[in-house]
Amino acid sequence: MKLVQAAGLAPALLSPRRLSAYRRWSLWALLIALVAALLVTLVWLAGRYEASQVQSKLERDTADALSDIRSALTRNVQLLQALQAAHPNRSAWNAEVARLLREHREWVRIEWRNSELETVAFVDSPLRAPVFERLGRANAHADVVLACANGRRVSGPAYSSSYFVPQLDGLGLEVMELCLPQVTAGKLNGYLVATYSLSEILAGLVGPQLMRSQEISFTEADGTRLALHGAARRGTRVFTSQQLLDLPGNTMVLRMDSWRGAPDLFPNVLTALVTAMSIALVSVLVLLGKDMRRRLRAEQDLADALAFRKAMEDSLVTGLRARDLQGRITYVNPAFCQMVGFSPEELLGNTAPAPYWPPELAGEYQKRQEVRLTAGQAPPREGYESVFMRKDGSRFPVLIIEAPLINHHGVQTGWMSAFLDISEQRRVEELSRASQERLQATARLATIGEMASLLSHELNQPLAAISSYATGSINLLKSQMAVHATTGSEVDAAPDIVQAMRRIAEQAERAGKVIKSVHDFVRRRDKEREPVRPEALLEAIMPLVSLQARKLGVRVETRLKHGLPAVVCDRTMVEQVLLNLARNAMQAMDQAHLTAPSVLIEVRRAGGAPGAQGAPGKNWLEFSVADVGPGIPEEVKQRLFTPFFTTKEEGMGLGLSLCRTVVEQHGGFLAYEPNRPQGTIFKFTLPVE
Ligand code: ADP
Repeated sequence: MKLVQAAGLAPALLSPRRLSAYRRWSLWALLIALVAALLVTLVWLAGRYEASQVQSKLERDTADALSDIRSALTRNVQLLQALQAAHPNRSAWNAEVARLLREHREWVRIEWRNSELETVAFVDSPLRAPVFERLGRANAHADVVLACANGRRVSGPAYSSSYFVPQLDGLGLEVMELCLPQVTAGKLNGYLVATYSLSEILAGLVGPQLMRSQEISFTEADGTRLALHGAARRGTRVFTSQQLLDLPGNTMVLRMDSWRGAPDLFPNVLTALVTAMSIALVSVLVLLGKDMRRRLRAEQDLADALAFRKAMEDSLVTGLRARDLQGRITYVNPAFCQMVGFSPEELLGNTAPAPYWPPELAGEYQKRQEVRLTAGQAPPREGYESVFMRKDGSRFPVLIIEAPLINHHGVQTGWMSAFLDISEQRRVEELSRASQERLQATARLATIGEMASLLSHELNQPLAAISSYATGSINLLKSQMAVHATTGSEVDAAPDIVQAMRRIAEQAERAGKVIKSVHDFVRRRDKEREPVRPEALLEAIMPLVSLQARKLGVRVETRLKHGLPAVVCDRTMVEQVLLNLARNAMQAMDQAHLTAPSVLIEVRRAGGAPGAQGAPGKNWLEFSVADVGPGIPEEVKQRLFTPFFTTKEEGMGLGLSLCRTVVEQHGGFLAYEPNRPQGTIFKFTLPVE
């Protein structure tokens, strides 16, 4: 029961698409079945028609053969009658009969018998051995008697029924007697008896054209075959026609068999025509089927393409909008709806002002749209930026790329626009700008710090000198005053000078303390150390480096192995070192006007000895900045790290010395070497965590 229900439900469960395919295929199957049935019927009918044609021809042939035999027999009777009348004496009769027998194969023997049926004369056919040699003529007497009795009764020719006569060669032949009573003036004179061979009747008396493709035979009513003549059997299909040959005293069946070539595919023109038409019909059907399959496939492809387009539209993050030439919105994709927060229904068909235009900018946008629609002026290819409003009123920046919408006839039907929400991009830009500013500020701070520290270092000595000169002067003045006091000379101004000198010494000391505290303050950064991954260091400087590299047309490459350990450093200061080295490298190449300037920044583990100051037992990373510039001339080398030494017009000459200070504060060391084939490599090491 359940099964039956399931089977009943199955078509209902099919999808509409499969259902229609199912219906279509069943219609096709029905059509093909009908056409096949029609064709089979047609071919069968044509075959039958052809068979009936053959059959009726055979009937006609049989009738022809029958009338041939009849008229020949009648002619023979007339010959015999004439023979008896014309040749009353025996020798003439004998000669004439012999001539007749030679001409008529169907006769095997002709006898002249008297009224008592005794043989007066006889002649056997010269064309064969005497027929009654083996059997003896007496054995056939009964048949002769019967035939002659019949003949006498009807006063005309009469035939006996046929009988078999065995021959000397072991074969035999079926013969039949004709008895012709001889009556003159109402008195019976005797009989003329002619013996017919049945097979020779068939062979001699039937037109040869009738026997070319047929087999002709005499049979008894029950079908027993008496004599046979005709073509050998060919093919399988047999057509038979039978007709009665009723002779006075004997009745036999004349039967004709005809064969048809067995596997005759096109028996006649009609069948051939029908077959050809059938083939044509089937071919048309096949072609139609193929065409339909192609259409189905095209339909399927189209459906797939549509589905793909829809999926693509739905998954796109770019907003798409189409407008007609009147400015009406004709299409929006899901991404656009999501961007502005309006549903497609709220947007489609809308004209200016669009619901996503901020009211304060609507006037400007309206003007822009009018220019586009009336003048047909295309917007810039790279797009333009604008501000849209979400449904909740919040504003966001968008990048709009607009292009004319051209249909397949090549006519413009509107405008197609793509929208990118660039708020996130803006945020990132803002962030990177802030970080750049921070880096630049730090760079300035670091330079100032270095300058302050150098200044303090440089100023400490003069200050100390001032202070000691002041102290010396005070001491001198004091001893002078003591001498004057003992001599009593005038030294009124001296205490004031001493006072002033003391003030100078005090101030010099104070300046020294201030400078020391500045120095200490600058050096205090040492403490702010943390583990930093080398990748992070490079990432931090890359925006600034690339900025300058773009300006100077330099290719910058970074190379570092994955999984390098973190280094312990003051992150900002080390970034500063890297930046300084990279900037120096780019500037050096810029001055030399190279064709393919490039900088390679590389980080790797420092092998074994990281340098003179590398503490043993510690791991080091080596940072290197290599350029392909002109290298460092000998005279510059001497003063490379000297503060305020520079070869550039706007240079400060502090970069390298700052770098060295920073690296050495970390316990590492900074060095340089020539690059191969040209340029310079600056290297420094930092301790691993
Ligand atoms: P600044 O960059 O302000 O001149 P630095 O101390 O950084 O000061 O550099 C000092 C000098 O060293 C530069 O003026 C330049 O002549 C030379 N120099 C620095 N780096 C390179 C380099 N990669 N290739 C050639 N010369 C360099």
